[in-house]
Amino acid sequence: MFCKFCGKEIPDDSVICPSCCRQVAPLKAQAQSTPAQPRAAISPTPNAMILTGFVCAFLAPIVGLIYCILGLLQAQQYRENGQGLAKAGIVISIIMLILSLVLTIITIVNLSTLTALLNVYQYNQSPGYNPYY
Ligand SMILES: [Zn+2]
Repeated sequence: MFCKFCGKEIPDDSVICPSCCRQVAPLKAQAQSTPAQPRAAISPTPNAMILTGFVCAFLAPIVGLIYCILGLLQAQQYRENGQGLAKAGIVISIIMLILSLVLTIITIVNLSTLTALLNVYQYNQSPGYNPYY
């Protein structure tokens, strides 16, 4: 390439023109020389507690919630991966808990409604009652 200041031909990868000593390219060498943040201490996979908790979140939300919280604490202590998975597991556990709670309430309400309907039916069927009388 050519220097945009003095017009002389310079190597393509040069940052400072060797002829006029002016900067001809952005300083990228500094960014490259900065080493990537050390990640060796971080284990590549989530710990077993988080994985167990994540699976349990769907099957047994209370167990999953406990495992995910414990796994998240452990992951934070040892700077492990899988903290996102643990948090997702906690959210899923809570959602599943609320869902099962709502389903239980619906079932109870339905049962009481059914019982009430059954009572009315039995009342209607009782010999002393005639709705057309
Ligand atoms: Zn130059």
